[in-house]
Amino acid sequence: DASDLLRNSLLQLSKQEKIRDVIEKAPVSRSVVKRFVPGADRADVVGAASEIAASGRRSTIDYLGEDTTDLAQARHTRDAYVSLLTALRDEGLTEGGTVEVSLKLSALGQALPGDGNAIALDHAREICELARQAGTTVTLDMEDHTTTDLTLDALRELRADFPTVGAVLQAYLYRTEADCRDLAHAGSRVRLCKGAYKEPESVAFQSGAEVDKSYVRCLKILMQGEGYPMVASHDPRLIEIAGALAGQAGRDPRSFEYQMLYGIRPEEQKRIADRGDQMRVYIPYGQEWYGYLMRRMAEKPANVMFFLRGVATK
Ligand code: FAD
Repeated sequence: DASDLLRNSLLQLSKQEKIRDVIEKAPVSRSVVKRFVPGADRADVVGAASEIAASGRRSTIDYLGEDTTDLAQARHTRDAYVSLLTALRDEGLTEGGTVEVSLKLSALGQALPGDGNAIALDHAREICELARQAGTTVTLDMEDHTTTDLTLDALRELRADFPTVGAVLQAYLYRTEADCRDLAHAGSRVRLCKGAYKEPESVAFQSGAEVDKSYVRCLKILMQGEGYPMVASHDPRLIEIAGALAGQAGRDPRSFEYQMLYGIRPEEQKRIADRGDQMRVYIPYGQEWYGYLMRRMAEKPANVMFFLRGVATK
């Protein structure tokens, strides 16, 4: 339908460099981007995370960047996480995992020619070590399907030394139910989301209804399993089903959490935290907001209008 068409066009557009250049350079960007990204600097995100913590919500922070093609950039990303974790620890925000970090292996060098995968893994290890020292956890974001196996392999390697590292599984992939079974064991932390990339029919459900059904099947496996499910969705129906499944499985509210993105349904985030369930907010920060923002546009046509109005009024 029309919204699927718009979604696919936006995800295609997000890959086109000329368009990216124009939009990224537009002076617009800041005010419009701000709803979804609290800022470019570490201080901006530490401030946002403390406000969120003050309202009883937890958070996970993502230093924006993906598809890194040079080593210096990959190192820069690692350094950004190192300084971030140090700042968060100094503010007392990492204790007990109140604030954790989310990593994209592609930002840490996974796609560099030659030993990119090993480089990304080394960078991730350094970040995990610092997170452990600060008393918090790390979650590996999931990117497009060409990297799923690599990311799950990295997860296994990292968990050997850092057993609290979490993974993300995407309900739109056919393989995900099986991955949920593999990862529903004790000590495992799994963030279940619908999936944000444009994926071919050979690997992923294409219709919203099919993705939702897959999400529920995956949720059942995770809730009945022994791990720690992280229910990442803004979809009211899925959130309700997650609560019901947790109840049926006899889960304590501390044994799973809900997750939403910064700037999306903030009142609902607070409501869920206030009723005694755990809510974690995913907060991105940094200069490289383009890919992230285009995926948010693709999810909700109204956001495109919000964005274009911002462009038009500058
Ligand atoms: P949708 O059906 O998209 O939305 C349901 C309702 O939520 C909408 O009707 C609307 O009311 C509201 N809503 C949803 N999106 C928006 C928006 N952009 N703006 C305003 N309102 C909105 N994807 C990955 O592929 N890999 C990851 O590692 C990953 N990590 C994530 C971490 C978190 C904490 C969250 C919340 C999402 C993550 N995602 C990730 C994105 C996810 O895959 C979806 O693309 C995204 O969450 C939208 O799906 P939804 O479940 O909210 O349902």
